[in-house]
Amino acid sequence: MARVRIDQVTKRYGQTEAVRGISFQVDDGELVVILGPSGCGKTTTLRMIAGLETITSGHIFFDDMSVGGIAPAQRNVAMAFENYGLYEHWSVFDNIAYPLRLRGETDQTIQRKVLSIAESLRIADVLEGRPGRLSGGMRQRIGLARALVREPAVFLLDEPMSHVDADLRNDMRAEIERIHLATGSTMIIVTHDQLDALALANRVLVMNGGVIEQYDTPEEVYDSPVSTFVAGFVGEPPMNVVPLDHAGRDGHDVLLGFRPHRARISVTSPTGTSSLALPAKVYMVESLGNRTLVTVSYGGGLLKADIPTTVEFPLDSDVWMEVDNADILTFDAQTGRRTDVGSTSVSNNK
Ligand code: ATP
Repeated sequence: MARVRIDQVTKRYGQTEAVRGISFQVDDGELVVILGPSGCGKTTTLRMIAGLETITSGHIFFDDMSVGGIAPAQRNVAMAFENYGLYEHWSVFDNIAYPLRLRGETDQTIQRKVLSIAESLRIADVLEGRPGRLSGGMRQRIGLARALVREPAVFLLDEPMSHVDADLRNDMRAEIERIHLATGSTMIIVTHDQLDALALANRVLVMNGGVIEQYDTPEEVYDSPVSTFVAGFVGEPPMNVVPLDHAGRDGHDVLLGFRPHRARISVTSPTGTSSLALPAKVYMVESLGNRTLVTVSYGGGLLKADIPTTVEFPLDSDVWMEVDNADILTFDAQTGRRTDVGSTSVSNNK
């Protein structure tokens, strides 16, 4: 097991600065998910930790040892990448067994470990065949099994679930979580899927444009995003963000943010001062079984309320969207940064 520390790491490809001086630490035994949109530097960061990519400047430490000069094979990391890297002319069993054979484990141990991981990832019945004929989801699980079977100091998984169907995705999340708990290993997982991140992570590292936007628990990232970027990226449907009519204390315009499940819809004007009430028009009503998603138009944009009952509103009818003041976050309209908190967790140096 190991603690992984990234210290002021930058990666440049010619003119492109893929990663821009980021610092963060993954504690021993922690599962951290790196989350962000395409091109934000997630894969580059993972590949530098693996040793597959050189670092332009900065340092990476496993525990207290700088791994700068250490080859990938000597870092005791196991990786599963999106494009599998399977040996097509070998059986599935041999693919998974490969790292154990390299290490000189006995046939009996190899048999036991491969079977166990194959059963938990539901690929035990294809062990004798070759990977070439299998679906993308199957191949992805084989790649994952080969990484997990090694029980290394650090697991690095790049989009480990991108090719599997929604129902299997839940199972695979559970499997990764179970393996993490059982082995107590340090895991770093890259994904662009915020649901994967919220479900799996001890902490989520949100990246944007080569820098860290926020590094926090899933609850903090969801309830207390440090920027409109994080607010819009995490949560489905995303946080509602509306401009406030007047400028804030420091003269900057202010944006108000609130989660759809905090909003209420009423047909009569709410009274009292403990909530914000926006006059809006019903744009769309979607039944979600036991809940209703109501989209309203307000100030030229659309806002959503996720209501925990089944309700009906006529389209284009006038309603009030109401949200308690305590559930409202404020952001600087120019920088997108939160203004209702101190410098809490904006954290390139955590
Ligand atoms: P995705 O989810 O699409 O893989 P990502 O967040 O993993 O995105 P990276 O693959 O790390 O992003 O890429 C970050 C930036 O670096 C992008 O602008 C990308 O085009 C650039 N980049 C990545 N690898 C190389 C390379 N080998 N040569 C040149 N530019 C690269």
